[in-house]
Amino acid sequence: SSASILLFCGSYSYINKWHSQSEREMRFLMKFGGTSVADAQCIRNVVDILEKHHKAGDELAVVVSAQRGVTDQLIEITSKLPTAKDDTAIEPLIQALGKRHMTTLEGAAPDYIAETGSVIEDRLISLQNILFAVYNLRELTPRSKDYIISFGERMLAPIISAALRQRGIPSSVIDGCDAGILTTPQHGESTALLESDARIKKRLGPLLGKEIPIIMGFMGCTRNGVVTTLGRSGSDYSASIIGAGIEADEIWIWTDVDGIMTCDPRVINDARVMSSLSYIEVMELSYFGAKVMHPRSIEPAMRKNILVRVKNTFNPSHMGTVIVRNGQRDHRVVKALTYIDKVAAININGAQMIGRPGVAKAIFTILADHEVNVMMISQGSSEANISLIVDEAHLNAAVHALSDLVKQGIVREVTHNHDVCAVAVVGAGMAGAPGTGGRIFTALGKTGVNVMMISQGSSEANISFVVKQQDGPKAVRVLHDEFRLSEVCDE
Ligand code: ADP
Ligand code: ASP
Ligand code: MG
Repeated sequence: SSASILLFCGSYSYINKWHSQSEREMRFLMKFGGTSVADAQCIRNVVDILEKHHKAGDELAVVVSAQRGVTDQLIEITSKLPTAKDDTAIEPLIQALGKRHMTTLEGAAPDYIAETGSVIEDRLISLQNILFAVYNLRELTPRSKDYIISFGERMLAPIISAALRQRGIPSSVIDGCDAGILTTPQHGESTALLESDARIKKRLGPLLGKEIPIIMGFMGCTRNGVVTTLGRSGSDYSASIIGAGIEADEIWIWTDVDGIMTCDPRVINDARVMSSLSYIEVMELSYFGAKVMHPRSIEPAMRKNILVRVKNTFNPSHMGTVIVRNGQRDHRVVKALTYIDKVAAININGAQMIGRPGVAKAIFTILADHEVNVMMISQGSSEANISLIVDEAHLNAAVHALSDLVKQGIVREVTHNHDVCAVAVVGAGMAGAPGTGGRIFTALGKTGVNVMMISQGSSEANISFVVKQQDGPKAVRVLHDEFRLSEVCDE
């Protein structure tokens, strides 16, 4: 009878579910970076990956960044237009962007050339109009800059979505603001507000499992709906914000290397991919310049205890790097190294500082008021000197702010030095492993690298120091060898 057939079907699907418990369907947030979407061939690759998970029944939400190089092009033109002699740079850029995106669309989603092509064209017209406005007004506000530099994502996301539909997978496009990312109004470097979580869940939740939403990375908006951007490489941060909002089981960051490596592979040619790291270790690495991830991109995942995986779009069978609360304990005390050369040192001198408790407060308050990001601090024991390391981009603001303190007689003199770089030695095992500092500085001393400043983060997962710019690559080479980071051990 029909009743018994129904019963049979019911128990069959029950058994099926029970059977697949260890491999149950997952909810993933996947993010694809600029290289992963650089052309039609790459995008077909991306669609292969998504199709596989879609067919396996996984729920997917996807964050994409701009095609490689596009954000750089947009930043470059915004920096020139307000003082340009004429507006002749605008049209060639619009042409080039149009050609690149249309070629990509043709290769990735041939059935959607008309539909998606007209979306791209609309976006190009908007972009062109804003660029002319910037030129004519001779003014680039932080708001208009953020809006302009978000166009790389605005043009690419519709192509990825069309490429999925080309394969018969339902998909729509959502910008970062509509996806629910609310941010502080700090243009160019805004931070997501916690209330984003609930908004994201409300907006994306109903779509999951029914389609694959393609979310434009790198952008959000303020409570008033003004577009903001999250800082360079910000779509990693978008991925984590959205992943936390939808309470993904895992967040996968797809890029062009097999995972997070012991050092920047462009600096150390035998850098090795690490199979696992802790949230704290990755935060320290990215904060100190490992260009593989945006510095804030761990925070939202960590808040919700979501596993983050870094994987290679061009080598998807590689396990990649797994990032969790407590990375696997291993024998290695030092796990990875980074260095940043885009930093500057500021020295604040003045005997007036001795024994005056308010001086440090005055310095850090005024720097915070000017939105200067201080990466390292050291104070001599005589208290007559405080040294700071700041992002090179913040140096002018910092020097300007501190000159006020000189005028007020709070400090005597402020000097700065561009010719430095910061190196960070990272590993959660350093906490409680005495002697690591000694080993680091002995190795550097033997090679004749002069250390100008040292600082240890309170997490104890990081010892960082400052050397002359030209000594940076040598310092990381020496330490990579000293701690045998290219050798595999039982991680
Ligand atoms: P995406 O476009 O996917 O966001 P990025 O170019 O931003 O990719 O980041 C990946 C690149 O980061 C790699 O190609 C690599 O050259 C560089 N990189 C720097 N430091 C590291 C590191 N420690 N581990 C892995 N990659 C690193
Ligand atoms: N497109 C942005 C950038 O180039 C964001 C990103 O790629 O993550 O910085
Ligand atoms: Mg990136």
